[in-house]
Amino acid sequence: MNDCIFCKIANGIIPSKKFYEDENMVIIADINPQATKHYLLIPKEHYANIIEMTDEQAIVLGKCLKKLSTLVDELGLQDGFRIVSNKGENGCQSVGHLHVHILGGEKLSDRMA
Ligand code: AMP
Ligand code: ZN
Repeated sequence: MNDCIFCKIANGIIPSKKFYEDENMVIIADINPQATKHYLLIPKEHYANIIEMTDEQAIVLGKCLKKLSTLVDELGLQDGFRIVSNKGENGCQSVGHLHVHILGGEKLSDRMA
C-alpha cells in the first residue's frame, strides 16, 4: 500500500534498524517504547488487522510468531515477554497495517492494560 508507513519500513523504503528480517516479516524497535524492550513484528504483506487476515496470511503470521522462539536471546527476552496486537478503536490501533507488539526486558504489569 502506497501511503502505509509500515509497508515502507517492512520493504526498506524508509530505513530502520531491523533486529530481524526474512521473506515474511521484519522486527524493529518501537519508536515510543512502553517497556525496556519493545519491538514490533511487522509482516511484509499489507493487511489491516487480525479480522481482515486471510487464512494464508494467518499461516504466515503463525510462522513469524514461531520464529520468535529462535530470537529470544538476541532480542533480550530470555526471561519472558508479552505479545499484543491492537485492533480498531477500542484496541487503540494507530497504524492500519497489522503488527504485533513484543514487550519484555523487565517484569511487566500483571494487568494487560
Ligand atoms: P498501535 O498503536 O498498536 O497501532 O501501534 C503502533 C505502534 O507503532 C506504536 O507503538 C508507535 O510507537 C509505533 N510506531 C509508529 N511509527 C513508527 C516508526 N516509524 N518506527 C517505529 N515504531 C513506530
Ligand atoms: Zn502496510
